[in-house]
Amino acid sequence: MGYPKEIYDKAAAVLSSRRQYAKEQTLVRRKQIYSLLPQIEQLDRQLSQIGLKTVQAVAGAPDELDTIIERLKTQSLGLQKQRDDLLEAAGLLEIYRDDNHTCKLCQDTGYIGAKKCSCFEQLLREAAFDFLGASGSQNCRFTNFSLDYYSNQPLQNGVVPRERMSTIKNFCVDYARNFLLDTRPALGRQRMVPESLLFMGNTGLGKTHLSLAIAGEVIGKGFGVIYGSAQNLLARLEKEKFTSSYQQEEQQSYLSLILGCDLLILDDLGTEFLTQFVTTTLYHIINTRLLEGRPTIISTNLTFPEISKRYTDRLASRLFGGYRQFEFVGRDIRIQSKILG
Ligand SMILES: [Zn+2]
Repeated sequence: MGYPKEIYDKAAAVLSSRRQYAKEQTLVRRKQIYSLLPQIEQLDRQLSQIGLKTVQAVAGAPDELDTIIERLKTQSLGLQKQRDDLLEAAGLLEIYRDDNHTCKLCQDTGYIGAKKCSCFEQLLREAAFDFLGASGSQNCRFTNFSLDYYSNQPLQNGVVPRERMSTIKNFCVDYARNFLLDTRPALGRQRMVPESLLFMGNTGLGKTHLSLAIAGEVIGKGFGVIYGSAQNLLARLEKEKFTSSYQQEEQQSYLSLILGCDLLILDDLGTEFLTQFVTTTLYHIINTRLLEGRPTIISTNLTFPEISKRYTDRLASRLFGGYRQFEFVGRDIRIQSKILG
C-alpha cells in the first residue's frame, strides 16, 4: 500500500497519543481504586517487590535459582488471587483490569503480529483524507456533483453538455466502485488494472471535483492515493532532487511514492512552471506507471496539440495511446454556482 510518509506519521502519532492516554487513564483509575481499597495498593506493592526479587534472582544466577523462582511465583499467584477476590467483591475487577486502550485488538500498537490492525488501516484512510483536504476534497463527492449546472442545449458540434457530463460522471462512479488492483503476476493473460484517465476541458467544468470524488472512494477502499496539482507535485520533486541523498535514504523518496502509489491524481497539468526537469520527470512518471500497470488520472486545460507543443510528442503520444480521454464541456460551474448560490 503506497501511502505517503506524512500519512503514516500522522496515523502513527494518533496511535501514540492513544497509548499515552491509556497509560494516564489507567494511572488515574488505579489511584481511585487505591483510595477506595487501600489493601489493593499494599498487594500491588508486594507484587512489584516480588517482580523485582525475581529479576535480581535471575541476574545473580544462584545454584538454587529454579527453587527461588518457583517460590516467588507461588507467592505472586497467591497475592494476585487475594487482590482479584477483593476487587471482585467490590465490583471493581473489570475496571482494574481494563488497560483503557482504544483498540483492544492491538493495544493501540497498530499491529497484530506483523499484520496491520484494522484500527491502523482506518486511521491511515482518515489521514489520507486529511492529506487531500488541502484542496477541500471532503466536499468533492459524487453525491454533490450536480448536473444542473450543465446546459441541455446542444453545442455547435451537437454535444449536449448535460448528457456528456452525465456519461462522464457515471463512468467515474463505476470506475471508483470497481477500482481493484490485480497484483498477481500475469500468467499468459491480460492483467486487469483500472485504466488511466485524462480529463480535458476548460477550467471550472468539474474535472477536479470528479478526480477528488474518485480519490475519496478509492481511499475508502484502503488504497494508497496521492493527489496533487502538477505545480505542487513537480515543485516538490524538484526540491527533493536538490536536497541531500542522506535524508532520502532515511525515508522513502517522494518520487518513489509517486511512481508506486496505487492511484496518482495529477491535477491541472500545464499550470506548472516549465523546465527541462519538469518535462523529463513528467514523462518518467507517466511512462513508468503505464508500464507497471498503475493507474493515473490527469486533468488539464490543454488540448493535445498544446500538450505536444508544451512538452514533447513522445509524452503526448503516451497520453494519447495509454489514457482514456474525456472532454469536459459546459460553462464554468464555479462562476455559475456563485450566481445561483
Ligand atoms: Zn488496533
